[in-house]
Amino acid sequence: MKPEIHPKYVKVMVKCACGNEFETRSTIGKALSLDICSACHPFFTGRQKLIDTAGRVDRFRRKYAKLDAAKAEAKAQEQPKADS
Ligand SMILES: [Zn+2]
Repeated sequence: MKPEIHPKYVKVMVKCACGNEFETRSTIGKALSLDICSACHPFFTGRQKLIDTAGRVDRFRRKYAKLDAAKAEAKAQEQPKADS
């Protein structure tokens, strides 16, 4: 190889959001942090599942649960009383 033109290709630790860690080699020069890896991707696990990256699905559900509750309340107040 020609000297002084190649980036350093060194060992780095890779850490996934699912907790899986492994070692590989890269020119990035620092530890990698992934959302999904071969241990948790549905393609490799063979299971269909919701991929919840750092609680985003939970946050979405919380947000819309609040909205739905507010809507239901507004609707209940809209309805005329039966005895009037
Ligand atoms: Zn993973």
